[in-house]
Amino acid sequence: MISILETCNFARLFICIKMIKRISFLIIYFSFTFLFAQQSQKEYPRDYFGSPLDIPLSYAGNFCELRGNHFHAGLDIKTDGKQGQNVYATADGYISCIRVSTYGYGKVIYIDHPNGYTTVYAHLQKFAPEIEKYVKENQYKAEKYEIELQPKPTDFVVKKGDLIALSGNTGGSAGPHVHYEIRDTHTQNAYNPFLFGYPCDDDISPLVFKVIAYPLEDTSAIEGKQTKKELYLAKEKTAYHTAKIYAQGKIGLGIQAIDKMTGTYNTYGIYKVTMSVNGSPKLSYTFDELVSGEDPYLNTFIDYPLFTKVGSRIQLLYKEPYNKLSIYSLAQDNGVIDIEEGFTYLIEIEVEDFNHNKATITIPIEGKKEAITERNLENKGIPLVANRDNMYKTDQASVFFPENTFFHDTFIEVQQKGDTLSVNAPIQPLQKQYNVVFNATKYTSEELPYVCIASVRGKKAKKYYQNTYRKGNILTSRVKTLGKFVLTTDKQAPTVKALNFSKAKNNIAKLDKLKVSVTDNFSGIGKYTATINGKWVLMEYEHKENLLFFTLADKYFTEEEEYLFELTVADKVGNQTTLSIPLVYKP
Ligand SMILES: [Zn+2]
Repeated sequence: MISILETCNFARLFICIKMIKRISFLIIYFSFTFLFAQQSQKEYPRDYFGSPLDIPLSYAGNFCELRGNHFHAGLDIKTDGKQGQNVYATADGYISCIRVSTYGYGKVIYIDHPNGYTTVYAHLQKFAPEIEKYVKENQYKAEKYEIELQPKPTDFVVKKGDLIALSGNTGGSAGPHVHYEIRDTHTQNAYNPFLFGYPCDDDISPLVFKVIAYPLEDTSAIEGKQTKKELYLAKEKTAYHTAKIYAQGKIGLGIQAIDKMTGTYNTYGIYKVTMSVNGSPKLSYTFDELVSGEDPYLNTFIDYPLFTKVGSRIQLLYKEPYNKLSIYSLAQDNGVIDIEEGFTYLIEIEVEDFNHNKATITIPIEGKKEAITERNLENKGIPLVANRDNMYKTDQASVFFPENTFFHDTFIEVQQKGDTLSVNAPIQPLQKQYNVVFNATKYTSEELPYVCIASVRGKKAKKYYQNTYRKGNILTSRVKTLGKFVLTTDKQAPTVKALNFSKAKNNIAKLDKLKVSVTDNFSGIGKYTATINGKWVLMEYEHKENLLFFTLADKYFTEEEEYLFELTVADKVGNQTTLSIPLVYKP
């Protein structure tokens, strides 16, 4: 090399430049590799966070398992099937946020820690006494049950192991447990808690249930057909394989896989998937980190049409260009496999759990050009360009798609037949909500307040209430699924029934709560207000039990006074019922 640099005639200069280019390429390459390696080997403190519970940790759900419309952002920690377990701060810090909501996380605490992480404790039954007092004071001040509070960093300083709450089942929880997350305080990205040293007792390999092959272009096919094909899967211990398939053109693969853990009956999400073609890695993703705001891409990560039909989730091993998920460490050609005639391909897929238990799938493919016998005939309607606003009108209705409601250009068909508005397109996930607008001219002014928009779904064409906004005759709903919509009326007020007190049994001295059952026939429970002697009192709403309850210890009662309890409950259309019961306090 030195001699080349010493004697630089023209030809050698050329070689010289080539060498320098090569060297700088290598420098750039290595610094990128170094950066990449640094990024993927991010250091997580493994002994910093303790346990949020004082019982052995066992999980009902793990990080990034696939849920309704989101990746599960934490661990669901079992609480021995009951509520009321002590919940502790897992490290020193301060409470930065407290929220109470009927749905979602229910009662939740966020603690910010000095090392830049935030821990989240959700579905709580109640907060520790000092926090509970602070929350209730604020609920009474705002006269609201649902509330979000951001205490000052000095208000609730906690030490590792401090009691912060009792575990519960509030919000969208389907059984008693603590939902626990570790996030980056700044970005709010959630991390896999197992990275921080939480025990993960798992020596069972993931299970694979399905492998599906997808032809991705007009010229591609699986076994001569342009429709997706489920491949027959044979299993030997943890090794799965399919029979050889014939294919042509660009194809993709998808798998349905879950994990099991030792000593539990639950199923969990898998941790890592790697796919290679003829020995060279093609696509890989790992659930270490969930970037805040990426949940809408979940439906681009799964076979969404199949999910809407049968409810099972196939994870796609190819990436649509509009899928912006950050979970991929490798996505060569977006995971798309180009099958050429006369060539053979061995696809190997490795499915891993956090403890590196593995299942492998091998799929032999032979490239073979055949006449395509079955074509996708999904594209009915008129073309729609995704990256601009689109509006469609019928006689009495209209549909407005703001730009990028759809992930990609598609075909759309908007029709009105009688009262029913159909919004049809090939089945696909939507990126955001769009507006369905009805002009309710055929209703009288007396009827109009009870009119609302419903979606019509299922074989029995059942109607489901859609939140309806009204401006005179114009009713609007913001929806996130395609399909049928119709105008309907809801004139029936909620049913409200006192459960443990009545006009005849109105001595509250021996009760700790006033319990009222609330149900609605159609639109669902909207607003409710409870007062005692005209003053607002806090009633908590447990929607899964159709229960409103007032904790009597929240108010001071005396023998001398008389009390009038009044509760008004409205459904979402505005029909309301009032319950009014005089109370006495005679110990
Ligand atoms: Zn959870």
